[in-house]
Parts: sequence; C-alpha cells; structure tokens
Amino acid sequence: MMKFVLASNNKKKIKELRTILSKLLPDCEVLSLGDIGFTGDIEENGATFEENSVIKASVPAKLGYIGVADDSGLCVDALDGAPGIHSARYSGGGDNENIEKLLCELKDVPDEKRTAKFVCVMSAVFPDGKIITARGEAHGVILRECRGEDGFGYDPLFYSDDLKKTFAEAEPDEKNGVSHRGRALSDFCGKLKGVLC
Ligand code: IMP
Repeated sequence: MMKFVLASNNKKKIKELRTILSKLLPDCEVLSLGDIGFTGDIEENGATFEENSVIKASVPAKLGYIGVADDSGLCVDALDGAPGIHSARYSGGGDNENIEKLLCELKDVPDEKRTAKFVCVMSAVFPDGKIITARGEAHGVILRECRGEDGFGYDPLFYSDDLKKTFAEAEPDEKNGVSHRGRALSDFCGKLKGVLC
C-alpha cells in the first residue's frame, strides 16, 4: 500500500487533506509526521509559498515516504503583497491580532485600492526527488471591519469576488468551492493522479 505523509501539525488541515487524498487514491494510507516518528520542527525559511511547501514536503521524502504539504497566505496589493508568506506570524500574536494589524496598516487605503488574494501552494515530494506543485488563488478585497463567524485567520475581513460575501460568512463547502486551497487541491490531485496512475 502506498504511503503519503502530510507534513503539517495543523490537525484541521490534516483531516481535510486526508479525506481528499483517501477519496482520490483509495489504496493509499495517509500518515502524519507523528505517525512516522518525526517530532522535530521544520524551518520554513523559503522566500516563496512554493519554496516553503517543498521544504515541508521534503522532510518525509528524505525518510523514504511521499511527502505532501501546503503553504498559504494572504497577499494585499496596497502592502506590496504583505503579509504573504508571513501571514500566520504577521503580528506576533493570534488571528485577532493579525486582523487588527492588517486593519491598522490599511486604515488610509481607499476602498478601490483594498484588493487582495489568498494563495495556496500544494506540493508532493517523492523519495527519488521528483516534485509536483500546484497553486490556487482566490481574489477579493479587505473590508474595514469583520463580517461573519465561520472560518479562521483573515476570513472575516476577506470579501470574496466569487461569493460576494466574506469567507467567514460562507458555509465550509461554499468556501472550499472557490478558495485558494480548494483550487490548489483540485489541480494537485489531477497532477498526482497523472504521476501515479
Ligand atoms: P499556513 O499555510 O498554515 O502557513 O498558514 C498561513 C496563514 O495564512 C494562516 O495562519 C492564516 O493566517 C492565513 N490563511 C491561509 N489560508 C487562509 C484561509 O483560508 N482563510 C484565512 N486565513 C488564511
């Protein structure tokens, strides 16, 4: 049985990716880093989403497994793409502090210049060094106050061009249908099937 190892410590992310990969490839086993006895930290010191997702997916690959990882973030045009790859640690605090910092940085930016995109890059790295990457984007604008209760991270501030509401006002399926992660995953699964089948 083929074994994939998801290089993430985020339990929600592992659950979502495990479900999708198991449906795509019923004969595969989806493991976490803990399942293969890896307890170290992975230093995400890449300069791009692509580099960071490959850095993470390379960890299981070096141990003989097919490694799978994603890296994602919010890129705001008026801030030259920030917070970008630093989205999770933007303020040094949690989601609420990140939102506060973003609102503060954008306080003098007019509505028509508050455009932004979420980006997600999924990668698989094979033990022989082969790499697959897939990128998904979701476009929208940054509101002046939070709307909606669902989701996580910057969702309450991100008004989606596709949904005409914030990601935090959307049902999970609705968000997944247009989100950067949903789009990256569907492209990724197609590429992975092409390599494995
Ligand atoms: P990572 O991919 O786990 O490194 O997460 C990157 C960070 O980007 C998250 O901690 C969030 O702050 C932000 N982010 C990524 N995807 C989303 C999303 O779908 N909604 C809201 N925030 C997101």
